[in-house]
Amino acid sequence: MLEGGGFPVRRPAALGRLTDPFLLLDEMGPIDWPPGGAIGAPSHPHRGFETVTYLLEGMVQHQDSAGNSGLLTPGDVQWMTAGRGVIHSEMPPPDFLESGGVMHGFQIWVNLPAENKMMQPRYQDVPAAEIPTATSDDGLAKVVVVAGESLGVSAVIDTVIPITYLHISLLPGASLNQILENGLNGLVYCFGGALQVGEANEQVSDGQMAILTDGDEVTFSVPEDADEGAELLLLAGQPLNEPIARHGPFVMNTDEEIQQAFIDYQSGNFA
Ligand code: MN
Repeated sequence: MLEGGGFPVRRPAALGRLTDPFLLLDEMGPIDWPPGGAIGAPSHPHRGFETVTYLLEGMVQHQDSAGNSGLLTPGDVQWMTAGRGVIHSEMPPPDFLESGGVMHGFQIWVNLPAENKMMQPRYQDVPAAEIPTATSDDGLAKVVVVAGESLGVSAVIDTVIPITYLHISLLPGASLNQILENGLNGLVYCFGGALQVGEANEQVSDGQMAILTDGDEVTFSVPEDADEGAELLLLAGQPLNEPIARHGPFVMNTDEEIQQAFIDYQSGNFA
């Protein structure tokens, strides 16, 4: 599947009611761009939700209509709350474009509650060095705490509604118990190796997504005799249970609000 100006993404599933408030999960790449070949997402609008970019390899230059700009490098997170409207571009910076190289990362979309959809846009650009990490006592499980909490470590990013966003790396023999408040929707996306999830030891392999069922904790493990470890994202959040009207880069509650978004965008009244 291609996104933006035509870069490849892995999209494990169409997200829906079971993944509310998460609207989209895209793994960008990994792709090894040739010199001059890297493709990004030229100028486009968003309204009514948040886009969260977490880069593992490569570089992304972002720029918006309000004059904000920044460069994402490996490990950096941009949590952008589009709110009432942002027009931005997400592009390979000139030197990366020239040299080419590996690009790998994630973009997820988090819905906003009706009462927050038209809030002022907000950026949280957090460099890798400021993203907290946690390691299990035996050293076999490492967690990058983008949002929420794991192993007693809390994120620095502030979210509109409570969200857990963890990047978990498991070595063979690792077992990580993660507390999650009951009633949240949770999903697990594996992007390297394979892991076992929950009491039933359901296997989730590279490229697969699993939806978590009710409960207040979940265990992720990799058997001791496995050839390799596992890389996964854990996302959890409180379902909004509100109507969704969605058209391309706009996610509102009603068709009228979507039409208004188009009118505002086309009349230059957007951001
Ligand atoms: Mn965008």
